[in-house]
Amino acid sequence: MACQYTPTMAKITRKPLLKAKSVVSKRARNLSGPLAATQKIGKSAAKAGRPPRQARASGRSKALRPWTPAEVREAFSRFRRDNPEPRGELEHLNPFTLLVAVVLSAQATDAGVNKATRALFAVADTPAKMLALGEEKLRDYIKTIGLYRTKARNVIALSQKLISEFGGEVPRSRAEIESLPGAGRKTANVVLNMAFGEHTMAVDTHVFRVGNRTGLARGDTPLAVELGLERVIPPEFMLHAHHWLILHGRYTCLARKPRCEVCLINDLCQWPEKTA
Ligand code: SF4
Repeated sequence: MACQYTPTMAKITRKPLLKAKSVVSKRARNLSGPLAATQKIGKSAAKAGRPPRQARASGRSKALRPWTPAEVREAFSRFRRDNPEPRGELEHLNPFTLLVAVVLSAQATDAGVNKATRALFAVADTPAKMLALGEEKLRDYIKTIGLYRTKARNVIALSQKLISEFGGEVPRSRAEIESLPGAGRKTANVVLNMAFGEHTMAVDTHVFRVGNRTGLARGDTPLAVELGLERVIPPEFMLHAHHWLILHGRYTCLARKPRCEVCLINDLCQWPEKTA
């Protein structure tokens, strides 16, 4: 099947420091994304929009009630009216370049990845061309992206695996995509959704925050939020739900200063700290 998505080409004492180093090295080993599926979010519950643990445990706040099905439907109807065909912001040409872009986007911004991949994809838009380019030249193209050495190694290795095991094509199953070097659950969800039109929910930092803050789907891990969102969002909205939630988190429900005054779902949002 052709790609479903039109590219837009388309602080600290010694002990905490040691702990921080340990977290960084763990992330460097696993570049499946800033929010690997079962990894707990390091930011405070307040920033993520979750109420304090005691308040959650007591259940004393009426505002923490789950959304009703009618409310969920209303929210996504509004997202759809506002933006019927939402577009992701990672530039790509085909499922392979989408896969590479998502692998490169771990702990990096879409804008930063796009800046590097415009030139890269002009010369290497297939696994064979990427292998022909080689790891050293690939590093030159992506050296502005964090952890580029590891990412270059992964991109070459995944290109090799695509050729040797999948006929040079991006596979269509979650397990096969997750078997590729540098790819994890989030990568698989993005590729399955954007390239193959599947109703998957990739949870990045924005979706994680919006899910918890609004009360749509609370959870301590991206996987918990992913499964929660999949449970409550009606199938008719699932194809685009991932993008609506990312865009909502990126441009409206901002981490530090959410723009509640212009929020489409203000009346539905359960966050006790929202402003009118
Ligand atoms: S009202 Fe909107 S912007 Fe404000 S916290 Fe809720 S979802 Fe986010």
